[in-house]
Amino acid sequence: MSGAEFLKEETRNLSEANGPKSLLPTSLRSTETALNCCWAIDQWTHWRQQAHDIKQYTLAHLDELLDQFTANLERKGFKVLWAADAEEANQLVLDIAKKHNAKTAVKAKSMVSEEIGLNHFLADRGITALETDLGEYIVQLAGQRPTHIVTPALHLSKEEIGKLFADKLGVKETSVPEELTALARKILRQKFCEADLGFSGVNFGIAETGTLCLVENEGNIGLSTSAPKVHIAFMGIEKLLPRLADLPLFLNMLPRMGTGQKLTTYTHLFNGPAPGREMYVILVDNGRTKALADPEFRQILQCIRCGLCMNHCPVYRQVGGWAYGWVYPGPLGEVLVPSLLGIEKTWKLPFACSLCGACTSICTVKIDLAHCIVKLRKRAVKAGTPAGNLLQTLIWKNYAFWMQSNRRFRLTMFGVKTGIRLAPFLPWHPNMLGAWTRGRALPQVPKEGSFRDWWKKKN
Ligand code: SF4
Repeated sequence: MSGAEFLKEETRNLSEANGPKSLLPTSLRSTETALNCCWAIDQWTHWRQQAHDIKQYTLAHLDELLDQFTANLERKGFKVLWAADAEEANQLVLDIAKKHNAKTAVKAKSMVSEEIGLNHFLADRGITALETDLGEYIVQLAGQRPTHIVTPALHLSKEEIGKLFADKLGVKETSVPEELTALARKILRQKFCEADLGFSGVNFGIAETGTLCLVENEGNIGLSTSAPKVHIAFMGIEKLLPRLADLPLFLNMLPRMGTGQKLTTYTHLFNGPAPGREMYVILVDNGRTKALADPEFRQILQCIRCGLCMNHCPVYRQVGGWAYGWVYPGPLGEVLVPSLLGIEKTWKLPFACSLCGACTSICTVKIDLAHCIVKLRKRAVKAGTPAGNLLQTLIWKNYAFWMQSNRRFRLTMFGVKTGIRLAPFLPWHPNMLGAWTRGRALPQVPKEGSFRDWWKKKN
């Protein structure tokens, strides 16, 4: 049974066992919706392979495709700018803002702009960039960072958002989602009309035609890019598709995998500025050419930012996005961030993984995330990071000893279960492992036996 088949069966079993879908945890519900949405179509595995092949072709011909893309963009009246790193990208935005005497900007969701720290850079120079995606708006209002690349306010309940709106906006507290949305909508409408600049990301750039494709559900991208006179689009250089004919496949895949929708509510195709308006495209490298030159990790540039690997990751689902400490969390971040910034600074990331392989079995464009993570661990040790110090080496050698024989493994599990049962009676509990054990309850030892017993019974 493949990992994907196993997950499919398990989500079904869980769904049946839990009765109505509303009883399932939120994270599992979204995963289940996404999976059902994909498995509802017979050609899903074929689509996945096709998407993988197109992205591989794109990376193999990236130089030619970028030339074709930029020539077509310029022919259509876009102003194309190149940024080697975050600093240069931010400086380019500042120069444009100065040129247009801009003081305010409305911003549609853009992971590249998060990556380059655009909001803080502009705020320090007296320019306000207001997030207009509802999740990003909430997170910005709370002074927090997004916790997920697709659903940035995933960590907040409607009650917490109601309280936040009451505190920050001085409105009556409510936890009715429709009322909260209407309130944000009313405030943002005004801001769209007043802003000097509009920022957006780019989901797909079509090399053949010089077209920018952006997808969304809320209408804020449409307003951010059309209300202000100047639109600046940030695009990672890998976000290309060779032909317009490739786009429908990705428009089908991205929402199905990201949010469990058959299609996003709005799909925008930009083919040049309207009269009297200006459109800039900032092509951001920020470590991507370095990643492209690395045959072991080049495949991470195939990513279309659907977020599905995060929804499936058992570690991400426990610790959330902030624990990773970088803009891109989950399995994607564990491979992408070290590829962009180097393993020396980011060595901890590949170790935030149980190596279960769920991400590899589900990734929309078939990136072998799990094996990349293993290779990055080796690289971290070779690079002389603390991952390879004596204590770590002794821990893992010891771990390997106990895991490499059936009898030793069973003995270990017996010891762990006994330890968990006895721990509450120890005088130094719950400070045993500092903040980790203070903030968490001990896992329950299942009465009906281990996973191995369950597996034996099931088969
Ligand atoms: S790595 Fe794959 S599953 Fe994860 S966000 Fe990227 S495309 Fe989606």
